[in-house]
Amino acid sequence: MTDRLHEDIAAWLEFYRDLGIEEFYRREPGAGFATRRSEVETGLDPESLPASTRASPTPQPSAPHLAPRTPGAEPRVMRAQALSLFEAPPPPRRDRETLEEIRQDLGDCQRCRLAQGRKTIVFGEANPRAELVFVGEGPGADEDEQGLPFVGRAGQLLNRMIQFMGMKREEVYISNIVKCRPPGNRTPEKDEIDTCSPFLFRQIEAIRPRLVCCLGAPAMKTLLGIKEGITRVRGQFFDYGSTKAFVAYHPAYILRNPREEKILREDFEKIRDFLKPNR
Ligand code: SF4
Repeated sequence: MTDRLHEDIAAWLEFYRDLGIEEFYRREPGAGFATRRSEVETGLDPESLPASTRASPTPQPSAPHLAPRTPGAEPRVMRAQALSLFEAPPPPRRDRETLEEIRQDLGDCQRCRLAQGRKTIVFGEANPRAELVFVGEGPGADEDEQGLPFVGRAGQLLNRMIQFMGMKREEVYISNIVKCRPPGNRTPEKDEIDTCSPFLFRQIEAIRPRLVCCLGAPAMKTLLGIKEGITRVRGQFFDYGSTKAFVAYHPAYILRNPREEKILREDFEKIRDFLKPNR
């Protein structure tokens, strides 16, 4: 392959990557060309294109010469050129779900017994591209009422801690290991967590944050499988797939034990320092 041809193909691939298309199939010589297809897909009549861009009735053995993309270049013509010589690529493939798709899949969930006592499914909220995700235990009465996570007194403390880090609540994402309020705010049971937590895992995968902060022991056990007491583990970072996880006390615990708020602040300072390089 000549240097010129190599450069041409690189420019062509870059152009298609800009469009979100990353897979290509070359039509076998002799299979004909997708002249009409190029017309359908581009909205251009091939006859209206410059002669140099029209599909040739005879297959050419080598890749076409395409000038590198320049400001003002006409992408539709370039697309028509490419389609006339190559099989049309499949639609761009997204490599992950969106939060909306996960919420849709959850639907009016009746998968576990917690559905019976809930008013609202509390899916999670805020930034779908957050660098930081907080995971709590489950919705309480205020959350069940409003359909939003961490909006009661514990939520207000969490908001203060987020501000303490110099961030806004809208910048992070907040969810729980179960999406429906356990009766009397009891800790969710294992089978309830096993049923509901896959949705949380999918949410985290959809967001791909830099850090997942487990608030409280149930979140720590669910995400990290750690059996030790949270007192020994809090304030530490762990590998979590391709990202990191951190363990902190649940704000509700701090409300019951206000002397521990200093520890919570220290832990949130660690989170702030961890995120700092990109902030
Ligand atoms: S807790 Fe989760 S799995 Fe159970 S009913 Fe609610 S949404 Fe469904």
